Amino acid sequence: MLGLAAFGLLLLIVLGAWALWAQTRRLRCQQELARAQREASEHARARREHVATLDALAQATPLALILLDENGRLVWRSRAAVEIFVRGQVGAAPIFLYPALEKTLEQTQADGLEHARQFNSDGSVYLIRSFMLSGPPRLLALTVEDVTELQRLGRTRRDFVANLSHDLRTPIATIQLLVETLQEGAVEKPKKREKLLDSIAAQTLTLQQMVQELMDLSLIESGRMPLRLMSTPLSQIVEPALTRFSASIEHQQIRLQRAYDPHLTVLADVEILQRVLQNLLHNAIKFTPEGGVITIGSSESEDEVVISVRDTGPGIPAEHLNRIFERFYKTDSSRSSGGSGLGLAIAKHIVEGHGGRIWAESEPGQGAAFYFSLLRG
Ligand code: ADP
Repeated sequence: MLGLAAFGLLLLIVLGAWALWAQTRRLRCQQELARAQREASEHARARREHVATLDALAQATPLALILLDENGRLVWRSRAAVEIFVRGQVGAAPIFLYPALEKTLEQTQADGLEHARQFNSDGSVYLIRSFMLSGPPRLLALTVEDVTELQRLGRTRRDFVANLSHDLRTPIATIQLLVETLQEGAVEKPKKREKLLDSIAAQTLTLQQMVQELMDLSLIESGRMPLRLMSTPLSQIVEPALTRFSASIEHQQIRLQRAYDPHLTVLADVEILQRVLQNLLHNAIKFTPEGGVITIGSSESEDEVVISVRDTGPGIPAEHLNRIFERFYKTDSSRSSGGSGLGLAIAKHIVEGHGGRIWAESEPGQGAAFYFSLLRG
């Protein structure tokens, strides 16, 4: 009887111990599960933060960036790369839309070295670079850069230097010829003398303009163009520029219309802003046929003044309108007529430095109109 009671007690103790063990184990399992869940969400959060940092960094560069792991699976790609160069989900093998990308990458995968190549697509030129990132983790990086503009600038710069000597020679040769004509007797004939001297003045101005543009170009490229903005009446900006070109205007029998309000005041560095008007007037005179009209206009709004230079030349075809403000850009019609393709780029740089905008409007055959805005002074 006593033995049975002792056995029952023992059984109770064993069952109690087992229940306690099971309870403790369940608790531990729950704790471990909770820790694993915490770690997983911590990981997911860290990953989201990494991706957000990469996305933010990628915005600071025009490069398209693609990262792959050792097994060639997509780890991350910048927004610029999506849809243009690579498709597919993160974690899967990417689908490259251009075989050149895959080839470059394969070379780096094979030898661990950096490889680069160029490819052309739809009129654009891209430079691809692939290289290993020093891990861990070992990641393969692919960058794609649109170098179309860079190549165009390089080419136009070479053309520019080649053309410069030719462009400088033309006005110098013309001046020489005019002087010789004067020396050979034309100096005695007042009417002819006047005409020849006007031509010399116009050619000298072209030379001055070219040299000024070269000096402005180096200023722009060095990023230095300190402005001293002062409240200035429009007349102080417009009239000196007109005086500078009065001989050319007279020589080409151009009718000049002053349709601007000389009393409007703007915030301007007069000396530097002069160059904007000089460049616009120089073009207007160059393109306006004899007997044409050039109109200087102005309009005002609450916080800005818009100045316009309108001519009755051949105008500018629509496809060139947005590009003529690029450095070295010339429309086909002016390629043979000299010019550096710099004047409008310089004007844009100066106007934007003043906090304004510059743009052109034109109906081919109806002349061209250039506008620029300045803050009211
Ligand atoms: P450029 O020194 O060659 O004149 P710009 O930058 O001043 O260079 O002008 C760029 C191009 O824009 C010119 O080559 C010309 O084709 C075009 N252009 C500028 N102004 C006019 C205008 N008033 N009428 C027609 N075309 C113009």
